[in-house]
Amino acid sequence: MFGWFTPCICGSSSCSDIVRKRLCIDEQKLMKKGRGRIIHVSDFVEEENGCLVIKDQDGTIIKDARCITYPGANGDAWWDLAQLLKQIDIAISIFEEAHPGCRALFIFDQSSAHASLGPDALCAFDMNRSNGGKQRKQKDTTIPISNPELRYRGLPQKMTLENGEPKGLQRTLEERGFNVAGMRAKCSPVCPIENERCCMARLLSKQEDFRNQTSLLERTITTRGHLCTFLPKFHCELNPIEMVGFFLLMHSLF
Ligand SMILES: [Zn+2]
Repeated sequence: MFGWFTPCICGSSSCSDIVRKRLCIDEQKLMKKGRGRIIHVSDFVEEENGCLVIKDQDGTIIKDARCITYPGANGDAWWDLAQLLKQIDIAISIFEEAHPGCRALFIFDQSSAHASLGPDALCAFDMNRSNGGKQRKQKDTTIPISNPELRYRGLPQKMTLENGEPKGLQRTLEERGFNVAGMRAKCSPVCPIENERCCMARLLSKQEDFRNQTSLLERTITTRGHLCTFLPKFHCELNPIEMVGFFLLMHSLF
């Protein structure tokens, strides 16, 4: 369906210009301390046009995936996942217009926002023993192929009852064929490291569908037919956006 992959590297960087300029070469006098104005830039770098943009016949940029905010007191809101998801949606539309018939590979660095699972994610420790009551509603799932009880493997499992109330740990596990009679709902204060069947919450959290969930960011991209990957943790030298940030910083200093 798609001709080829085109990588799109996403990154964001922010800096306070006054703080960064305090120690210029040959400048003895320290500039006044201050937070300056914070600028946050979230942009996409791609191999063909540099940035993810659409240009008209004269070369003027008419659509741009870049998003610049000025967060802080009396400024814009701090950059968050909701803003990133909105930007991704626009970026995908721009990509599809700029590269018809291509599939984008979006590359992100590791961050808690990029890994966020969304408000309806499966989390066994947010569940109660019984159905209903005060517990978060979670998305429906599919019982994994690795489920110990063969006959339940691959079956869809609703995480709410017919009346719309959320399902509890006991019912969820029993529907998968687990015998949880006499098992406590959760350990207090925390589960022992070595035991994976110490409580219902731990047992359910170890099931494949609870363990391997797609982040909201990845879901947004893949549902529109594109790809997404994340750079290794703690290796910022592999992230091209760090080089862009360094280049811009050097040009702002000298
Ligand atoms: Zn436990």
